[in-house]
Parts: sequence; structure tokens; C-alpha cells
Amino acid sequence: MNSSTVQNILVVGAGIVGVSTAIWLQRAGHKVTLMDREGPAAGASYGNAGVLASGSLIPITAPGLLRKAPKMLFSSNQPLFLRWRYLPKLLPFLKDYLKHANAKSAERISEGLSTLLHDAPDQHLALASGTPAEKYLDTMDYLFGYADKAAFDADKFGWDVRKRRGVDFEPLTAEALTDYDPVLKNRFNFGVRCKNHGRISDPGAYVTALAHHFTDNG
Ligand SMILES: Cc1cc2nc3c(=O)[nH]c(=O)nc-3n(C[C@H](O)[C@H](O)[C@H](O)COP(=O)(O)OP(=O)(O)OC[C@H]3O[C@@H](n4cnc5c(N)ncnc54)[C@H](O)[C@@H]3O)c2cc1C
Repeated sequence: MNSSTVQNILVVGAGIVGVSTAIWLQRAGHKVTLMDREGPAAGASYGNAGVLASGSLIPITAPGLLRKAPKMLFSSNQPLFLRWRYLPKLLPFLKDYLKHANAKSAERISEGLSTLLHDAPDQHLALASGTPAEKYLDTMDYLFGYADKAAFDADKFGWDVRKRRGVDFEPLTAEALTDYDPVLKNRFNFGVRCKNHGRISDPGAYVTALAHHFTDNG
């Protein structure tokens, strides 16, 4: 790099976004300072599921959310919880958010997510290879389990979008699922195997190791 193009850059926030930005800027030859009010991996990057989810293109606001949400709210087996006293404060946000629960918005959002996520495992390999963070990183398949084929068919919108955006996946019958991994026997009667995914075994330690790699390099 021409020394006249070297910039002094301050990156605020040492989560996965700030740490990886700082590392790539440093690798490009810039003088980079990374700061955080608490230290590396103090926020969401500490306690997430660590899935390198290159196929996670479908927003929560997929078509059908408005139909499904009331059932989710009143069933303890469903993933939605609401503090009812908070509802008046939440309503203005919900009004705007739920406007996107339609096919056109979901297509637009999935296109943006696809650009960001399609090569997530490769991007993490490029970031962490040769650093102490490498040991937390693994590429592997990602499986979706369904109660039956009808439940998979009910998710048709999402799978059609993923197919159009080039996500590499393979639907599996109950038998194929058990052949794939015997531990899944009798748990799901239908599944989908998504290739080109990955996992970070300890997201907090991963980001902390990357932050140390950054400081060790200047
Ligand atoms: C339960 C859960 C599970 C998830 N699972 C996954 C998953 O499997 N796969 C996936 O890809 N994503 C997952 N996510 C999302 C993922 O964790 C976030 O998208 C990601 O961690 C965001 O990184 P970030 O660097 O933008 O933010 P953060 O990790 O929150 O980092 C922000 C940093 O900025 C610092 N900061 C904030 N304000 C200031 C300030 N004024 N001055 C200085 N420092 C400041 C904070 O201390 C913090 O360290 C999950 C999220 C949650 C909550």
C-alpha cells in the first residue's frame, strides 16, 4: 500500500462486526484503533448460537406471520412471548414492522441477506485461519427438522426463496434423515439438509481470540 493512502481509523465496538472490520482494515495496511466500553465480545457476539447460517435468508416477517402470531402468543410450546404491559409502548414499532409481513418485502429482505450471508463460512475461514481463533471454527451441514412432510410443505415460501437464491439444500424423508444421523430416529419425520454452513463452538472466545490477534498485530 502507498504510504499516502494509509489512514488512521477508529473502530468503535469490539463485537464480531467491529473486530472483523478492524482486522481487515489492519490487513489492508491501515493504522487501526479498536475500542469498546467493556472489552471484546461484551454484547450479542458473546452469547449467540454460533451458527454460520448462510441459508438464513427468510425474515421473521415472512408471509403468514400475521396468521401464525396469535397462536404463537397463546401456546407455551411456541417461540413468542409478550410482556402485555409493554404492549402500548411496542405498538408503534409493531405497526411498522408487521407492514413487511408480505411476499414482496420478504423477497427484498432475502436478497439483501443473501448478499451478506451466502459465503459466511468462507468469510470466517478467511478471517480466522492462521489465528488462535481458528480452533473454534468448523464447517458442516445445518439440519432443519419437521414433524412431517406437511409441516415442510407449509414452509414452501421460504424454501422456494432459498432455492432461487442458490442455497444448496436437500429435503430428507424420515428414513433418509435416520440414515444421515441415527440419533434423529423417531424425532422428526421430515428434514432438510443445508450444505455450506458452519458453527463456532464458543462465540465469545472466538471474538476474544480474534481481538487478541488484532492487538498482537499492532
Ligand atoms: C440469542 C441470540 C442468538 C443468536 N444466534 C446467532 C447465530 O447462531 N448466528 C448468527 O450469525 N447470529 C446470531 N445472532 C446474532 C449475532 O449475535 C449478532 O448479529 C452479532 O453478534 C452482532 O454483532 P455486533 O458486533 O454488531 O454487536 P455486539 O456483539 O453487540 O457488539 C457491540 C459492541 O459495541 C460495544 N459498544 C456499544 N456501544 C458502545 C459505545 N458507545 N462505546 C464503545 N463501545 C460500545 C458493546 O460493548 C459491544 O461489545 C444471535 C443473537 C442472539 C441474541
